Amino acid sequence: MSITLLFLVLTIATSVASPLNQIHLLKPHPGSAGHKHSKLNCLSWRLAVETNNIQKWKQVPEACENYVGHYMLGKQYRKDVDLVAAEAYEYAKGLNITKDGKDVWVFDIDETTLSNLPYYARDTVAFGAIPYNATAFNAWIEEAAGPAIPGTLKLYKRLIKLGFKIVFLTGTEAAYAEARTKNMKAIGYTKWEKLIYKEEGDGSGVVYKQAKRKALEEAGYRIRGNMGDQWSDLLGTNAGDRVFKVPDPMYYIG
Ligand SMILES: [Mg+2]
Repeated sequence: MSITLLFLVLTIATSVASPLNQIHLLKPHPGSAGHKHSKLNCLSWRLAVETNNIQKWKQVPEACENYVGHYMLGKQYRKDVDLVAAEAYEYAKGLNITKDGKDVWVFDIDETTLSNLPYYARDTVAFGAIPYNATAFNAWIEEAAGPAIPGTLKLYKRLIKLGFKIVFLTGTEAAYAEARTKNMKAIGYTKWEKLIYKEEGDGSGVVYKQAKRKALEEAGYRIRGNMGDQWSDLLGTNAGDRVFKVPDPMYYIG
């Protein structure tokens, strides 16, 4: 055996013995000729966003605009919502519902029950890769043209059949209540116990939402489930017996 060959054998043996080297050998970077690329991995970014590991982000990274667009318009987003909704239903049907009408399910509106995707898919919005424009977004709300999110609409109907009362708790300002209410009714959300809009002085997302949930519980309601696309829908006090997070890689509300 030549010295060169012996060296090669020893090198391979060392690589196999070391788990780190093994992982490196088994995970080449496709399309980058084996070199590490510096570009952001958008799937990792989305996972970190959904798990609240990345917080207070202002917009979708430019490098991930296409990724987020394909995710939102493709099948994966719908499948992800459907799975959350199915889990929520499995949980809900195992609960004992009291007949006093006080078992409530709290739903957020934007990107939880109603989709703003037709707006977010515009070139001027770029799935959240362009900074938020309140004037343009509010004009979109006035159109009352947001579609329902199918998985959540199905869950809403099933929860009502189980005997839950529905509370919509939204960050939408009360000034847009008429348009939003019209939109919700048009897409199938036809009844609710309460639909709470944000008033002036209500504070940030998490402060506002926990205060309203606290008021619900003080009024005798039991929040058995709570579903939202933002962690600020689900964190804080009086969050509910169980919370469900639906995906939203397009924007962050604290
Ligand atoms: Mg929302």
